[in-house]
Amino acid sequence: MPAERIEMMVWFKSLIKRFGVYRGDPTSHELEMLGESQIRMQLVVKTRWMLLTLLTLYGMYAGGFMYFSGNAADLQLSQMLALGGAMVAVVAYNLFYHRYVQELSHFVLINHLQILLDILFVTILIHYSGGALSWFWAVYLVITLEASFLLERRGDVWFIGAVGGLIYGAVLTAEFYSIIPPICMPLIDPSLQHNFVYVMLRWFWVSLMNGTMAIISAYLMAIIRKRENDLKLMVIKDQMTKLYNRGYFFKTLNSEIQRSLRYNHVFSVIFLDLDNFKKFNDTYGHLEGDRLLKGVAQVFRDNIRRSETEPPYDVDVPCRYGGEEFAIILPETPLESGLDGDSSLSIDALGFAERIRKDVELLDIDGRKATVSIGVATFPQHGTTPDALVKAADDALYRAKNGGKNRVELAQ
Ligand code: GH3
Ligand code: MG
Ligand code: MG
Repeated sequence: MPAERIEMMVWFKSLIKRFGVYRGDPTSHELEMLGESQIRMQLVVKTRWMLLTLLTLYGMYAGGFMYFSGNAADLQLSQMLALGGAMVAVVAYNLFYHRYVQELSHFVLINHLQILLDILFVTILIHYSGGALSWFWAVYLVITLEASFLLERRGDVWFIGAVGGLIYGAVLTAEFYSIIPPICMPLIDPSLQHNFVYVMLRWFWVSLMNGTMAIISAYLMAIIRKRENDLKLMVIKDQMTKLYNRGYFFKTLNSEIQRSLRYNHVFSVIFLDLDNFKKFNDTYGHLEGDRLLKGVAQVFRDNIRRSETEPPYDVDVPCRYGGEEFAIILPETPLESGLDGDSSLSIDALGFAERIRKDVELLDIDGRKATVSIGVATFPQHGTTPDALVKAADDALYRAKNGGKNRVELAQ
């Protein structure tokens, strides 16, 4: 690779780091979101190809009709060149997006940018096909629909809808006052471009349609996204405790191992098993046993680290491994921080496990008490594969049970 090319790549990567969706090394959650955003971008690139094809076909159809009916004489060469040039520009940036979708998807505002470019293109199309008289205003609706698909936040879609209406209004105003020369179209009365009432009605109608499209499409997409998200959670969560399930535990464990191997990081896994739970069930009944499981799950949720973002996502991953057995993955967390003393202040796996143990001990289900035994293992110290780590934590848990229960043991 030539030196300039390498320099460009380094510059590009540093730019991505600065304005990208993540700053440091990505977590598996961030990579998942990035993957989804890439898929959506690719789909929009494809729909843009379709739109371009349809517009080209329509151009040929309308041009042919006008030519053979003798109306084409009103079309100006400059107008045709401008329309052709705008199309070439869109083809160029769509090719760019198509080629660099992976790299570009790292930028936070990349989707806003492509939609604004589309609006600009549609506005040029509208101006050169008659301004207030153009039929192409309806393409704004397609762009607003595209925005609702690409942008997560409802407010952003409304914003795009408003931008369409405002730009359209600006072009009509500029043409009305002949700030930019109005373009005549065959078959249409050009005097209407200077008819104040006509222009106002037209602007109001297009803005109303575009605004309605923004509100409806954002609303429908929000419903679809919510249902999609609910389904996704159903697949990865345990229905009773609302903790992550065993399948998700192994998926996350694998991805944490890959990430930590690549960047030389540590992380910890803790395994937990309720003490004498069979007796608890036998004494108070299975329904009370279920209540205890839910209470323990709440203790986990109260103790794990969570992001400050909206919606928040769990940094630590608490899972229901099986019946009354649980596992928690603690990314970027060493076994011991070396800070002796008050474990409630430490951010290491041992301190975390000890805190959970104490909180379960304090748990009170209508006067009924329970305890938990815990085994702790750390990557890479106790294993570098999922099996080795699980076995190390499980062996430690076994020792905690044999040592008298209600205690935390480290892997060896
Ligand atoms: P130890 O202290 O050695 O762990 O003893 P234990 O009684 O907790 O362990 P054991 O594995 O013998 O018993 C686990 C019990 O958990 C047996 C099963 O009935 C109960 N269990 C598993 N899943 C559920 C559940 O979803 N709800 C309820 N109520 N009980 C469950
Ligand atoms: Mg058990
Ligand atoms: Mg048990």
